[in-house]
Formats: sequence, structure tokens, C-alpha cells
Amino acid sequence: MFGSWTSEAFTIFWVVLVSLLAGRVAGDYVLAMWVGTTVYLLHHLIHVNRLYAWMRGGLRGRIPVGSGIWEEIFYLIYRLRRRNKRRKKQLIRILEQFRTATSALPDATVVLGARDEIDWFNEAAGRLLGLRKNDLGQHIGNLVRYPKFAEHLKNSRQSATVNIPSPVDEALQLEVRIVPYSQDSRLLIAQDVTQLRFMERVRSDFVANVSHELRTPLTVLRGYMETLNDGGAELPASSYQKMFQRMVEQTNRMQNLVDNLLSLTRLESGPVKPSAAVNVPVLLERLCMEANLMDTPEHAPVRLVLDTRVSLLGNETDLHSAFANLIANAVKYTRPSDTVTVRWYREESGGAGLDVEDTGPGIAKEHLPRLTERFYRAEIEGCRSKSGTGLGLAIVKHVMSRHDAELLVASELGRGSRFSCHFPPGRVIGDSGTQ
Ligand code: ADP
Repeated sequence: MFGSWTSEAFTIFWVVLVSLLAGRVAGDYVLAMWVGTTVYLLHHLIHVNRLYAWMRGGLRGRIPVGSGIWEEIFYLIYRLRRRNKRRKKQLIRILEQFRTATSALPDATVVLGARDEIDWFNEAAGRLLGLRKNDLGQHIGNLVRYPKFAEHLKNSRQSATVNIPSPVDEALQLEVRIVPYSQDSRLLIAQDVTQLRFMERVRSDFVANVSHELRTPLTVLRGYMETLNDGGAELPASSYQKMFQRMVEQTNRMQNLVDNLLSLTRLESGPVKPSAAVNVPVLLERLCMEANLMDTPEHAPVRLVLDTRVSLLGNETDLHSAFANLIANAVKYTRPSDTVTVRWYREESGGAGLDVEDTGPGIAKEHLPRLTERFYRAEIEGCRSKSGTGLGLAIVKHVMSRHDAELLVASELGRGSRFSCHFPPGRVIGDSGTQ
């Protein structure tokens, strides 16, 4: 830079010197100086014009030709432009990366301007909040219209969140957080918490159900214990026996509940057990025999029909538990005059099926979709007193899903029910032991 200024000073020195010499020769110093200054100014004017034309063209194209200090000025501008261009490219790349990353985020992200207008949003915001490209610039409150959200928009603190249904689908629950990140911009983040809320509800329902199921036997036991404590000595021996029997029944009920809960937990979250060939006909023969030998006074007889003798690739303990639950239910919920038929057969698809069919009271249509929910018990006329935990069919459903099988229930009030388990061909092992 210093070099350019010195050469510029030299130029001025030469212009003055030449003008003075010319003035002396011509005898008119003023005119000579005037001509010299005009030529010097013209030289700068030409370069200013080149700079102007170059700038008007957006500093694009070739660098203008310049002499003296102008050569240096043109070069410095050119270098600045190149550096800016590089920086711009870098920024665009960073912005692109940021956009791709935020687009891939599962949470809806919206950049809000000073007046809460939408400046930018990612793909998830389109999906969860229903935002579209032409909503850019619109006030977010006009598109997400919930009083709770409007209130939050006005008074949001960094840590606070608000729960609202998704404007796209009321079944989706969103947790919204608004974070200020510069003086007049805020970031709205909406997370889909439907599954989380569902799990929380399932967990609290589960605790409520278990407590409810345990309360009845515990109350009965406590009642008998208090009776015994308050003068049990005066009671006749027959009352003792009855009391003892009821206490054993209630203890068994609690034991059943705990056993079923443990099985269900193991089936829901435990590792999948290794599969082996399970001889289903032998398993069913044993289960039906046990059902027929049950020591309850009178119950419907269980008939076994074996249309095939194929085995299954699966876990014997789990299959035993599922089939036993279905047969026990059929016996439990039917009258002694009813019949229970257990059928093991091949299906056209190459798979195998098990039907547990009874001619009992049947189940009303509205209960059918919920039968396999934990603790769900359908109201059955005359069966109010039947003890159960409401976990049996939930266990059956889990065992079936672990065996790639399906549980189907067909029932008609007053005519009976059929619980069918359908196993895919891949799980069937032929009579000869081949799949
Ligand atoms: P529970 O321990 O109550 O038997 P389950 O999960 O095994 O629990 O069954 C859920 C509900 O399904 C039962 O409470 C009963 O109302 C109904 N149910 C199951 N099997 C039958 C059946 N064979 N006939 C009529 N109702 C049945």
C-alpha cells in the first residue's frame, strides 16, 4: 500500500514539474498548471468510471485494467470479493447441513419471528402441526388454535411446556416448548408424546388394577383374622373349617394373580425362549384329561378331537400355559350341561390350528375387541362369581405373538364361543418330524 502511495506521489510530482516547465516555455504558468491538473483529474475520472462499471456488474467478470494506485485498489476489491464468495459458499454449506439435520429431527421445529410469524419450519412440523409452505409469514396462533397454546405463546418461560392435541390428528398428543434464541426470534419445538402418555396411563391403570385385585382377598383374609382374634375360641368347629377354606381360596387367588403377572411380565419383556419341537397332541391330551379330572363339583366335559398329529416349533411351557388358559376358561364360563370341544387340525395354508369351542353363554360383541387387554373381564350373565384375574387371555395373546400365531375369537350371546389359535406353516412340524 505504501508503495502505491509513493508512486502516486511521484506521479503528482511529475505532473507539477512538467506543468512548470511547460509554463516557463509557454510563458503562462497558470494555463500550464490548469492543463496539468485537468489531465491528472481525467486519469482518475477514467478509473472511477471503470470502478463504477465493475461495481454495477456486481464485481463480476474480469478485473478492470488500472494504473498507479488504481491497480492496487482494483486488486484489493477483487481479493475481498473472492474471500466473500468463499465465505458465502461455506455459510451456504453450513446452512444446508443445518437444514438437513433439522429436517431429519423427529420433533417439529419452527422458527418464529418478532411477531410470532413463521420464518422457517422442518418436515416434522408439517406432519405434526399441519404447516405448509404458504403458511410462512403467518402468525403461528392462527394455525395452532388452542387457548392453552395461545397463553403459552404469550408467557412462555424457557423450561415450561404445554400439552396440546395435534391440529392434524386429535389422537396425537404434543408437548410444546418455546425457546427464545435471539432478541426477536424464538424456536418452537413440538414433540410427539402420544406413546409416552399412553405408557404412563397403562402403568397407572396397571397399578390401580393390581391394587384393586389384591384388595378383595386381603379384605377377606383380614376379616377372618379379626374374627379369630376377637373370640374365635367360641366358634363351632364347622365355622373354623369354612373360614379356613375361604382363607385358602383367597390365598390361592392372590397366588394366581402373582403367577399370572409374572408370566405376563416375562412374556412381554423377557428374551424369546429357544424353540423346540412341541408334541401338541400329547400336550392337549394331558390338558384335557386334567380338565376332566378337575375337583370342582360338576363341570362341562372336555372332548378332544385330533384331526392331525403334527407338532409345533415353539416353547412348550408357554404353549402349555396358553392352551391351559383357553381350556380352563371354556370350562369355567360354561354350565355343566354345556360341551367343550378342543380341536387340533391342519389348515389349507399349510399351518395348523387349535379351536377351543364351547356351547356356553357367549360374549357380547362390544367386549370382543378388549378381551385380551390386561385385567379386562366381560360381564357374563350368571358368571359374576367366577373367580379370575383377567390376565389369562392377555397371556394367550402374548404367547401367540411369540409363536408368530394369531388368536381369533368368535362368540355369540347364548350360543357359545370359539377361541382359535392359527399357527403359520413355518411353525408346523409334520408327523415325520419335518417342517
Ligand atoms: P379371567 O381370569 O377373568 O378368566 P381371561 O383373560 O382369561 O380372564 O378372560 C377375560 C374375560 O373373557 C373373562 O373375564 C370372561 O368374561 C371372558 N371369557 C373368556 N373365555 C370365555 C369363554 N369361554 N366364554 C365366555 N366368556 C369368556
